[in-house]
Amino acid sequence: MLSGPIDVEWLAFRAGIKPAIRITTDVRRARRAAARFRNLGACVVGTTGLVGANRIPSAILYVARSRREAEQLRLIERDLVAEAPECDPPRVLELNASLGARLGYPKCCIDAFCARIANPPAGISVLWLSARDAWVASPSSRLNSLLLPERIRLITFEPCRYDCAAASRIADSVFQVVRDTDAHAAEAIDRELARPMVVAPDGCRALVTLERGDKTRIAASEAPRDLEGNVVDPESARSSARFVGALVDSAGRLDAICDPPAVCIDFGRVVTTGGRGL
Ligand SMILES: [Zn+2]
Repeated sequence: MLSGPIDVEWLAFRAGIKPAIRITTDVRRARRAAARFRNLGACVVGTTGLVGANRIPSAILYVARSRREAEQLRLIERDLVAEAPECDPPRVLELNASLGARLGYPKCCIDAFCARIANPPAGISVLWLSARDAWVASPSSRLNSLLLPERIRLITFEPCRYDCAAASRIADSVFQVVRDTDAHAAEAIDRELARPMVVAPDGCRALVTLERGDKTRIAASEAPRDLEGNVVDPESARSSARFVGALVDSAGRLDAICDPPAVCIDFGRVVTTGGRGL
């Protein structure tokens, strides 16, 4: 079995699919993860800073093949996570793009991310924005990046679209290396990713069951859980029931729940075939 939550990324790094790994966590977990990656032979550099749209104080680890590369990642992000950032908006986008490229993210997905953070509307979750922008009628479940808090994922970036070809190539390659190591773990990840999800503008997420007919309706809704069955996002747990009964229109929007509308991504619609048949 995979022995810990860092392994999917480690396997992708070891196989050469990911040039480097960036992890944000708390200081205690960061120390343990750093020791583990070093034992596995990687170069690790750590720092602390304010991360993401909500500027959450975090420990950040950069795992690379050389100390120089890990240091460069830290240097690129230094101004982005500083308490009083001194760089202007164009520089922020430039640094984010550089960081994404060094972590191996596709250019189209990096450009979409930068376009989102260039002009974020107030009071709307970045997660909802990325889900809305990436929405397609037939998404690839392997590009489901909405279960990152539960550490169920094949990619660790937001895809520009949920059928992005470049992101799909990465996700399929990661799936293959995970499956080569632990077929049951790969199957569990694939299964969990292939469930329809709802994201609300406040950032709450739910796994939903769709009743398909003349109209699509949400028949059941539950909070995401990690592979051990634990709820790790209490906000989503508190609010997932509100989606039950809502109608989903042809563009994935839920009626009458909130404004702007929550968005439903039907990851259960397309059965991804590459690497299945375990
Ligand atoms: Zn893309």
